[in-house]
Amino acid sequence: MSEISVAIAGAGLSGLCLAHSLLRAGFDVQIYERDPEPHIRRQGYRISVDEHGIAALQRCLPPHLFKLFLATASPTDKASYFRVTNQELGEVFRLTFKGDPSGADLRTPRQVDRQTLRAIMLEGLQDRVHYGKEVLRAETTSDGATLHFSDGSCIRASLVVGADGVNSVLRKQLLPDCEPDDTSSWGIYGRSLLFHKGRSLVPRPLETSGVFAIGPSGRGFFFTAMRFGEAPQTAFARLGVNQAPPINDDYVMWGILLPKEQFPEHQEKLGAEALQRLAQEAVRDFHPVVQRFVERADVDYTMPVRFRVAKKPDMWPVSRVVFMGDAVHVMPPTGAHGGNTALRDAALLADKLEAIAIQGETLEWAILSYQEGMSKYAFREVEASKTMMKRFSIKNPLMSWVMLRAIPWMRSFTNKSLTIE
Ligand SMILES: Cc1cc2nc3c(=O)[nH]c(=O)nc-3n(C[C@H](O)[C@H](O)[C@H](O)COP(=O)(O)OP(=O)(O)OC[C@H]3O[C@@H](n4cnc5c(N)ncnc54)[C@H](O)[C@@H]3O)c2cc1C
Repeated sequence: MSEISVAIAGAGLSGLCLAHSLLRAGFDVQIYERDPEPHIRRQGYRISVDEHGIAALQRCLPPHLFKLFLATASPTDKASYFRVTNQELGEVFRLTFKGDPSGADLRTPRQVDRQTLRAIMLEGLQDRVHYGKEVLRAETTSDGATLHFSDGSCIRASLVVGADGVNSVLRKQLLPDCEPDDTSSWGIYGRSLLFHKGRSLVPRPLETSGVFAIGPSGRGFFFTAMRFGEAPQTAFARLGVNQAPPINDDYVMWGILLPKEQFPEHQEKLGAEALQRLAQEAVRDFHPVVQRFVERADVDYTMPVRFRVAKKPDMWPVSRVVFMGDAVHVMPPTGAHGGNTALRDAALLADKLEAIAIQGETLEWAILSYQEGMSKYAFREVEASKTMMKRFSIKNPLMSWVMLRAIPWMRSFTNKSLTIE
């Protein structure tokens, strides 16, 4: 397989996952990352990894790194909940998820810290990831592709994989009609340490819940706790990973959903302090527990997120550049499928490329068959996330009154409501 060289643009979730698998299968694989070093950007949010994401990690990572992923993920509690509430945390409805406290059932979703997962996936690839290599464009021929970088250099490979995230320059160049659409809502994400002076910021009834509080004027607030199953420092040392984990403390991840027009112009250029002020303003009418999360935020980690939705290409170009993850099927985080779908792509592409040696298939077959499989499940997830996002923005005033006032009030008489001090 060393005759087939693979150049991956982007050392994010999907790029690193694919690289592990291809390296183990004997491909000549190199990863080119725009950032100058591994943890330069503070993307300290937690992601929920579902059965597809877990299966992809199990398939691609070396066993000790997969164990490390499981060890540092949050415990799979006996029961966890997704609660939809009004802005005072009065419950509208809840979904209950049965867990598996033994952690053995790999279909049970887990919460992981994104930076920790990325650090785990960087292990063993230190000499394969080239930092400070910003991809500008690719040139394709019938037997390979050349990647051009902003420092003037270029490299050639049999296959280029565009895993360069939502603002992918390769997508802009090669799929110019597929620029993702903006949704009507954008977000501000942040995190706050879970414990303050020994007390948890999350009230006990909500400890194992993800909560989405629907507020006035199209605003919403999501929060959930990220509790490490085993302290990353201990788990990294126990499993022989010789790097300092990026984070060791449990935290609350929160996100504010805001109608796009409530964001100042050039929101991406707002500094952390200005964003923090905007966040505090946006939650002024919410329950004090919610306000406390934002007040206690680790301001360096507060970040704006434009929610965008991918457009499916009418036709996939038959070329030596393929795409994975947000580069080609970005979706809003409602539903928590973006990262899982990106990991699933990595596993599928690894399967197809490895079939070249195992089943005697050609590289062209691998590319086509990957694109066909990926576009089926990925754009289904895009549609599902879009629909879910619409459901959370209730525009009809009568519907809003019933959902956010009448139902929580009625539930308070049946002991089904929450009492949050
Ligand atoms: C707040 C938040 C919460 C989320 N929660 C969840 C969740 O619970 N579950 C879930 O499944 N998903 C979740 N997601 C989505 C998930 O994080 C993304 O879908 C996932 O990271 C996509 O992986 P990727 O490999 O496609 O891209 P990324 O992980 O974004 O990686 C892209 C990489 O490419 C690099 N890059 C970009 N441009 C260039 C260039 N020109 N040259 C070289 N390198 C470049 C970037 O620096 C980056 O390292 C969430 C997203 C956000 C923002």
